[in-house]
Amino acid sequence: MQFRSDIFWKSARGCCPDCGARVRGADDRTGLLARLWNTPASCPSCGLVLRRKEGFFLGAIVWNYGLTAFGVLPLIMLAYRLGWLDREGMVRLAVLAIFLVPPLIHALAWRLWVGTYYAFLPDQLPSGGRRLDD
Ligand SMILES: [Zn+2]
Repeated sequence: MQFRSDIFWKSARGCCPDCGARVRGADDRTGLLARLWNTPASCPSCGLVLRRKEGFFLGAIVWNYGLTAFGVLPLIMLAYRLGWLDREGMVRLAVLAIFLVPPLIHALAWRLWVGTYYAFLPDQLPSGGRRLDD
């Protein structure tokens, strides 16, 4: 098994991991908040299903949790350690981050998950022979 970083980065940038087209085109009028927590069901260009069957979302949850727990919360603890926040401020900011960060990075977590999945399993892409309706 080889990790295809090109596929991962295509997806992380918001492009289809298979055809490379923008998943949200320029004519997409979705609002900013909807873009943050909504991932299109499929690629508008090639039809790759981005939201696959039940259970596929678990990988996005792992990315979301990982980015929050190991990306954002350590920054808050670092701010406390550097004296920028007192203990109470750190706790309040951490609680706020726990509730606000996951919905705000939901779409990013999905892009990273789809990229991770197809980077490890590129033969699952339609261009690799997989059916589109899965
Ligand atoms: Zn596509």
